[in-house]
Amino acid sequence: MTTLDDLPIRDDLRGKIPYGAPQLHVPVALNVNENTHPIPEDVAHDIIARIAQALLSLNRYPDREFTALREALAGYLGHGLSPDRIWAANGSNEVLQQVLQAFGGFGRTALGFTPTYSMYPLLSSGVGVEWIGADRDADFELSPETAVRAVEEHDPDIVILCSPNNPTGTPVPLETVRAVADAARGIVVVDEAYAEFAPPGSPSALSLLEGRPRLIVSRTMSKAFAFAGARVGYLAADPAVIDAIRLVRLPYHLSALTQAAAIGAVEHAPQMLAMVDDIRGQRDRISAELAGLGYRPYRSWSNFVLFAGVDDPQATWAALRDRGVLVRDVGIPGTLRVSAGTETETTAFLEAIAAVGR
Ligand code: PMP
Repeated sequence: MTTLDDLPIRDDLRGKIPYGAPQLHVPVALNVNENTHPIPEDVAHDIIARIAQALLSLNRYPDREFTALREALAGYLGHGLSPDRIWAANGSNEVLQQVLQAFGGFGRTALGFTPTYSMYPLLSSGVGVEWIGADRDADFELSPETAVRAVEEHDPDIVILCSPNNPTGTPVPLETVRAVADAARGIVVVDEAYAEFAPPGSPSALSLLEGRPRLIVSRTMSKAFAFAGARVGYLAADPAVIDAIRLVRLPYHLSALTQAAAIGAVEHAPQMLAMVDDIRGQRDRISAELAGLGYRPYRSWSNFVLFAGVDDPQATWAALRDRGVLVRDVGIPGTLRVSAGTETETTAFLEAIAAVGR
C-alpha cells in the first residue's frame, strides 16, 4: 500500500498531522464549539428563497467582489466600517489562510500565544510560514508586557491574537492588542471568531482599526450565527489589506449559493443571534457547576469552557462518550473542553460528568 512517505511530498509537510476532531455520531456533540441551536424556521425559508433565486443563474460565475454580502457585513459590524474594508471567504480558516498567503510565505514567520487555535500552525505550514508558539501568563491570560516581549524577541511577520482564545476561552485585553499593534513590525490579526459570546458591551478590536493599516480583525458566521455548515468567515481591515488579499484569492472563491445564503443570514442577524444570550447562560452554568464538582474552569468569553482538574482526560473523555456526550481533549494535560449546548444538551453533559466522577 502506498503511504504518504512514498510520495514526493514537500519536505516541510512530512510528518505533519491533518486537523482531525473526531466525527462521531453521538446524541450530544459538544466537541467542536458549534452553535447547536438550529436556524429559526422563518429565516431558513427566506434563505431558501434566496438560494432558489441564485440557482437560476448558476450558469454564470458569481459576483467576484460579493458586493452585497460585503455591504451586509459592514452594516452588521458597525464601527463606521465601509464595504471596501470587508473581505469574506469560505470560513475564517480560508480568510486566515489568505492573510498568511499574502503576508507570509516561505522564509517568513507567524507568532501566536499557546495554547491557541490548532489550525494556526497548520495554515502556516501549508504556505511555508514558520510558526512560533510563545507562552502566556498564568491561567492562559495575556498581558501587554508578556505579548510585547515575545513580539520583540521574535520579530514575526505576522502575529495572530485569538480573542477569546480557543481552546482556553480567555479574552485578550484591548490594551494587549494595542500594545502588540504598536510593537509589531508586520501584520497583526485578531481572530474574533467567538466575539459575540463576550459580555454585552465588551469592546472589540474593530474599535482599533482606524489609523492602524496593519491590523486585521477576523470573524466568522460559524459560531454565533449558527452557520458553520455554510462556511462563511470574514475580516475587517484597511482597504489596502483587501487589495493584498485579492492577489492570492482564487477567482470567484465565494459561490453564488454561499453569497445568497450569507446575505439572508446577515439580514436576519437579530434573529440569528437570538440564542447567543442563552448560550452565554449555559456556558456560565457549566463553569459554575463544574466548579461545584471540584473542577477548575478557566475564564471564558466564548461558547465553550476549558476546565482543569481532570486526572485522566482520555479516560473521562471516553466515559462521557460512552454516555453519549462528546467533548474535546485538546491535549492540555489535566483538562477537557466542552461547548455550551442547548439547555437539554448542557444538562446531559453536566449529569454525565457528575456520574463519571473525578
Ligand atoms: N478561529 C477560531 C479561533 C476557531 O475556533 C475556528 C473554528 N473552530 C475558526 C477560526 C474557523 O472557523 P470557520 O472556518 O468555521 O469560520
